[in-house]
Amino acid sequence: MSLHKTPIEWATHTWNPVTGCNHGCPYCYARSIARRFAPKATEHLAEDTSFTAEDNGCYVLHKPTRQEDAGGHGRTSPYPFAFSPTFFEYKLDLPEKCKTPARIFVCSMADLFGEWVPDEWIFRVFEACLKAPQHKYLFLTKNPQRYIKMSKEGNLPDLANFWYGSTTTDPDMEFFWSDWHNTFLSIEPLLAPFEEEPSHNGIGLVDWAIIGAETGPGASRHRPKREWVDAIVNTARREGVPVYMKDSLAEVWGPDLLREFPADLLLPGEEVQV
Ligand code: SF4
Repeated sequence: MSLHKTPIEWATHTWNPVTGCNHGCPYCYARSIARRFAPKATEHLAEDTSFTAEDNGCYVLHKPTRQEDAGGHGRTSPYPFAFSPTFFEYKLDLPEKCKTPARIFVCSMADLFGEWVPDEWIFRVFEACLKAPQHKYLFLTKNPQRYIKMSKEGNLPDLANFWYGSTTTDPDMEFFWSDWHNTFLSIEPLLAPFEEEPSHNGIGLVDWAIIGAETGPGASRHRPKREWVDAIVNTARREGVPVYMKDSLAEVWGPDLLREFPADLLLPGEEVQV
């Protein structure tokens, strides 16, 4: 078992010690994937499955498990509890096992900072990151209030290789920024107009901005306007904030997508795009 190489353009790997999320976003790709690979009605989890069910609908899985069909054919179960929040204890050592520096999107299949996630899960994920300081860790949440609370309590590490992202789809959503922590916005999917106003769109306060359009069945109905993207890019340029455009923005922006990283997020051998 190892970190997963990812097609997500701004990371090199994903690591999912926690999966599942209760936010219920209609455009969620992670929920579809988890449900597709969860045990079917004709399958069951292997008898030696070792897990704990918590009172709040969360699960702790102590070791890898298999799902088996009626004929006894088995396969490893990647999402034994579908999209219910699940802590895969046995995946905590994966960053440590990978010696080559990586830019890791932590919990691409979850919201690690959702209100339902026990503090202990987050602390244990942080501990695992601390044991593998060769990597850059990118966290992302739709619940930036949890970052704010943890920061006030002194529980949010302000390390050079920890990056805290907030997902926003319109400029009025709350996000996290800090003078002590590395922060970024993931404006994806971009669903509403942004203006060229740092105070309106927050771009001047964070250290990096990722922009993407909606993909999947609803994409054509929710395609962002070019002027919204221009407003974000112009603000970022004025404020000196690097911009990373996902492939999904090509139809709006054209083929020459901006692929900028903050210098501190680059891995050995990578160069800053100018
Ligand atoms: S926050 Fe992310 S993982 Fe959670 S439902 Fe929304 S898109 Fe899915």
